[in-house]
Amino acid sequence: MQGDEKVDAAVIEIRNLSTRFGDHVVHDGLDLQVRRAEIFALVGGSGSGKSTLLREMILLHRPDAGTIRVLGADVQSLDEQDALALRQRLGVMFQHGGLFGSLSVRENIGLPLREHTGLDDELIDEIAAWKLELTGLAPETGLQYPPELSGGMLKRASLARALALDPELLFLDEPTAGLDPTSAAGVDELVKKLRDLFGLTIVIISHDLDLLWQVVDRVAVLGEGKVQGVGSMSELAQMDHPLIRQYFDGPRGRAAQPQQAGEKTWNQR
Ligand code: ADP
Ligand code: MG
Repeated sequence: MQGDEKVDAAVIEIRNLSTRFGDHVVHDGLDLQVRRAEIFALVGGSGSGKSTLLREMILLHRPDAGTIRVLGADVQSLDEQDALALRQRLGVMFQHGGLFGSLSVRENIGLPLREHTGLDDELIDEIAAWKLELTGLAPETGLQYPPELSGGMLKRASLARALALDPELLFLDEPTAGLDPTSAAGVDELVKKLRDLFGLTIVIISHDLDLLWQVVDRVAVLGEGKVQGVGSMSELAQMDHPLIRQYFDGPRGRAAQPQQAGEKTWNQR
């Protein structure tokens, strides 16, 4: 793929992946590599298999063929105990937050710690408080319940929970969907901060062109069961592939692109 067979420190390596639901082929010989400490995005039309791919990378769905290596482990060959141990190194923020409405935000964040560590309640509350602060939420928010929060706060709270166990790899499904521009920009900053502070590797499913242009290092375009192209947004913008062109030549695609070719862009930081 792209001539970079031996990418340095791939934390996710997918080879010849095939996924079917009955007769419906979703992935058909898909290859993908995600490098350590990069912010990587999956894009593609509705039904192109992004969410399924994410579920396979976090061990929630077993592909029909091919290999998926995550943090060095071949996920299909893991026994239940090793799979559980690996899953604890992955943080996931699902599209709709997935917080329990009947638990306070603090209890939601503490839940993975209660399930997987022997820490006492006091320490769990302290860790939850630190995760709240890290994601830019006020301490009082910990005492609120998810239905009381705004969209932006909910995203931050579910991110705080995804970070509870200090994951090495973080998966975000549509982290800015449905947010107003200010809240979305706040999430953009937060994603960058997490990578820069902790060297987290972050995989994002998103259609948000501001996020893609300003935050993401590399993007894979899914279509027809495969990765049709992978590269920085500026690299993809130069590609001729019809499925990729669809992405950039629509009005929304154009609007989000930097104005001038020579202008300093996000990937020249
Ligand atoms: P995307 O996230 O790119 O929109 P998905 O990965 O959710 O796409 O789905 C890819 C295709 O697989 C869709 O056609 C969807 O209907 C189908 N699909 C996903 N999950 C299942 C399932 N559990 N059973 C049957 N079909 C599924
Ligand atoms: Mg999806």
